Amino acid sequence: MSRVWLIKLTLLFIVIAIMTFAGLQLYQHRHYMMPIVAGPGVTKVVKLSDYSKGLKGTMADTNVFFLEGKEEGGKMLIIANTHSNEPAAILTALIFVENAAVDKGTLIVIPEFNNSAGRNTRPGDGYPLYFEIPTDWGSKKFGMGNREASPLDQWPDPDVYVHYPDKQLLSFLDVRNTNRTWPGRPNGPLMERVTYGAMQIMREEKVDIAIDIHGAETMFPVTNCIVAPEKSLRIATMTSLTVKAREGFENHVEPSPSGFRGLSHREIGDYADTLPFLLEAPLPFLDQPTGPKTLDLLLNGKDPFLLSLSKKGKLFVPYDETGWPMEKRVGQHCSVVLELMRQFSRKFPDRAIKVRNVPRYAEVAKNGVGHYYHDPDKADKDDIYFN
Ligand SMILES: [Zn+2]
Repeated sequence: MSRVWLIKLTLLFIVIAIMTFAGLQLYQHRHYMMPIVAGPGVTKVVKLSDYSKGLKGTMADTNVFFLEGKEEGGKMLIIANTHSNEPAAILTALIFVENAAVDKGTLIVIPEFNNSAGRNTRPGDGYPLYFEIPTDWGSKKFGMGNREASPLDQWPDPDVYVHYPDKQLLSFLDVRNTNRTWPGRPNGPLMERVTYGAMQIMREEKVDIAIDIHGAETMFPVTNCIVAPEKSLRIATMTSLTVKAREGFENHVEPSPSGFRGLSHREIGDYADTLPFLLEAPLPFLDQPTGPKTLDLLLNGKDPFLLSLSKKGKLFVPYDETGWPMEKRVGQHCSVVLELMRQFSRKFPDRAIKVRNVPRYAEVAKNGVGHYYHDPDKADKDDIYFN
């Protein structure tokens, strides 16, 4: 064999070895299943495809947890991981699923709304594939996802995404973004079938209030806030004022723009009788001028570049050496969800929702997020669901 051929074959072998090594990691990430321990309040678990048939058998199908109280009342839907690279959302949703006891009304929780995006990643940005949350019994491992669904599940992208039904022209990427594909349709692109499933839950179950949990850059003005359309504004404002007075954290209200289509806080309100809210907690990991996208940045939000920008007044949230630890973000989400529930119940007493055993801001900040997760090895097998 000539020397040239030997070099060619060696290089080919190296390339195949690298591709196999990397591909295997991505394959395992895509198929990672995390156990969720259904808490005492969970009365049934169904699939989103039960409400949107076009999701059956696809990677976009996901678990929907029902926590039904003994006493009739109103209904609240909590949606987490619309964007699967904003993990405070799923961490909050699991605190509700694993702990909440419902006395009145019904709580419906979708912990991994964009299940396909939860199995996607962004290697070019150096995203970690997993992150772990320390608990009282070890650590709980989560897959770290992306903003958009995986092209393996929905492909090809159009040149421009024509929103349904408004025909507004959106970025091609938004066809895989479940915060642009609302209200969706039963046989549209896969992500429209996901949002359509949630719309059907709201319409068929007569959901009163829907909360879509997110995280946003500290350099983006729409962060650390509650986004609400006109019909939700009063409850959002009362919630914002109450958490500030009673619990000492800032969470301002942003009005939902009426001309920008496809967003949950816009379309849910326009296409169902439900009051929508979107929660944003600061997420320094998503900011662009940061150091490496490490697990420490993801979980603790500490970054020297953001600290210097904060001193120049460039950030939209308070920021110091302590960063934005996950327990603060999740604690805020827990408190805001509970307060929205309380304010809604005060305004509509016959549709009240009463929930116990969910911690508020100060408790999560003190005990840590993992304190509220249960050990799947010690749980009854029938109570474990994989997502
Ligand atoms: Zn988001």
